[in-house]
Amino acid sequence: MAMAKRTFDVVVVGAGGSGMRAALQLAQAGLKVAVLSKVFPTRSHTVAAQGGIAASLGNIGEDNWLWHMYDTVKGSDYLGDQDAIEFMCRAAPEVVYELEHFGMPFDRLDSGKIYQRPFGGHMQSFGKNPVERACAAADRTGHAMLHTLYQQNVKANTNFFIEWMALDLIRNEAGDVLGVTALEIETGETMIFHARATLFATGGAGRIFASSTNAFINTGDGLGMAARAGIPLEDMEFYQFHPTGVYGAGVLITEGVRGEGGYLVNKDGERFMPKYAPNAKDLASRDVVSRAMTIEINEGRGCGSHGDHVLLKLDHLGDDVIKQRLPGIREIALKFAHVDPAHAPIPVVPTAHYMMGGIPTNVHGQVVAPYKTGPDEVVHGFYAVGECACVSVHGANRLGCNSLLDLLVFGREAGRQIIEDLKSHPHVLPLPADAGEFSQARLARLDNQTGGESVAEVGDAMRRVMQKHCGVFRFPELMAEGVAQIKQVAQRVANTQINDKSRVFNTARIEALELDNLIEVAQATMIAAEARRESRGAHAREDFPERDDVNWLKHSLYFKEGYRLDYKPVRLKPLTVESFPLKARVY
Ligand SMILES: Cc1cc2nc3c(=O)[nH]c(=O)nc-3n(C[C@H](O)[C@H](O)[C@H](O)COP(=O)(O)OP(=O)(O)OC[C@H]3O[C@@H](n4cnc5c(N)ncnc54)[C@H](O)[C@@H]3O)c2cc1C
Repeated sequence: MAMAKRTFDVVVVGAGGSGMRAALQLAQAGLKVAVLSKVFPTRSHTVAAQGGIAASLGNIGEDNWLWHMYDTVKGSDYLGDQDAIEFMCRAAPEVVYELEHFGMPFDRLDSGKIYQRPFGGHMQSFGKNPVERACAAADRTGHAMLHTLYQQNVKANTNFFIEWMALDLIRNEAGDVLGVTALEIETGETMIFHARATLFATGGAGRIFASSTNAFINTGDGLGMAARAGIPLEDMEFYQFHPTGVYGAGVLITEGVRGEGGYLVNKDGERFMPKYAPNAKDLASRDVVSRAMTIEINEGRGCGSHGDHVLLKLDHLGDDVIKQRLPGIREIALKFAHVDPAHAPIPVVPTAHYMMGGIPTNVHGQVVAPYKTGPDEVVHGFYAVGECACVSVHGANRLGCNSLLDLLVFGREAGRQIIEDLKSHPHVLPLPADAGEFSQARLARLDNQTGGESVAEVGDAMRRVMQKHCGVFRFPELMAEGVAQIKQVAQRVANTQINDKSRVFNTARIEALELDNLIEVAQATMIAAEARRESRGAHAREDFPERDDVNWLKHSLYFKEGYRLDYKPVRLKPLTVESFPLKARVY
């Protein structure tokens, strides 16, 4: 049966910070924009961002965009593309002021300027000492930002399709992208969103791991849809573990706590970070701190009866700082760790947090993939921004506060580029005759499958494999086993069944459809990790402990078809300044 169809200039999948920043640009230009979201826009994961947005405003200590660029290149362990990093760091002050003018309620200094706090890896004078670069609204920066962007979109007449889940990308024979198929969660109605441009802003995929700071909706849908449609995924082996997830719960405690003066201690009460990062200490970059914590735990200096976590101490900061700058953290600590951080330390453990890899794009948000005549071409009609995209500004390890910045800079830039591209493409390209059939077949399989396994059980199996075989430290035998096991789990995913009871609500169907996407991300992550024989940024191999710039200074590209991996060079040349030469990375 043919699917119903609606036509727009642009369809944006995702209403987080990146999708809404792009949609705003497009709607303000008078384009007809549809924004699809699985949840109400202001419930997207951006709402949970706590610490801040990085920009070299220099409102407290002296700062400079070039220092920010240096820190980002170094933080990425030199895998980030230096042209993209320059683009982002240069634009940072402008996009933050723009957000301020949209009505963002930043915290203020006595001078009236935006409040800024130090954050991991952000330093003055090319790595000398920590600098206040994170622009913050208490510890609820993402909440303030997402609400601001939503209000601006309402004003600009963006069309929101709330609780609609995109299912698959529609491409024609030439490979051009023509829109998506989608399902309305409440009614089960399906529809084709036919558009001149399709922008993915579907966020991260933290739910491939058993323990994650991410929302339950972060299931890598954009990556699953792209992979199924033949688009490769870039640098998937690099998954960031945040040092301070609440032990046992996974809920995030922002690095802003350490920015405000908190620090980590082991079971002997020893502040251990100066041993690992004499200069930056607790404000070293995240991969460095997560590894240090894991070593403390593995060497028997962990806390608690199982010795499996460390403590984050902030009682010395005083009630005032905690109440004024970290009110949400106090709430989280009370609720999830049952401690009042004004009096007792919070038990924490490294927790899966951020996907550095994603859908390959250039700095204009255009997806770059094998297409028509070459391996690295702009795919007509397809764009990606935010955590689901790989520009790549974060390389092998993202610095805190650089993600919200990435959303604003590249959300705006993708909007600008789409407006430009649509000038020469005034009409939608015709849909292929079978558009929608693939999604219908996927839905029919779910509805008709009998004798299959439960979605929850197979999902748990996937999360256990990822947690055990692809963690903070990666061991050769465990990774080889992990690859075999995750491929087996993928076969089980193809046989899942939703039982009759849960079919009453579409949520069971949604979970099954999400698992189809999660398993693509999990396989890409596991397979790319096993293949990269070096340690760089968040990818720390026990058998290859050093960075290997001779053989591995390159981005990986994972293709679903045949589990194929390919590689492409890192862009070491910035736009206008000199390259930062490769150095050993010490903090
Ligand atoms: C707890 C936490 C704290 C953080 N703190 C900070 C911080 O202080 N500073 C910082 O820079 N970064 C921080 N980060 C990282 C940063 O918040 C995220 O990387 C960023 O917000 C992701 O934004 P996004 O626009 O890419 O996607 P998201 O905000 O995750 O939004 C994704 C959107 O896509 C929609 N979607 C997904 N799949 C589909 C589908 N199939 N169909 C329709 N819609 C779909 C969702 O409904 C949602 O609207 C934090 C992350 C977490 C988890």
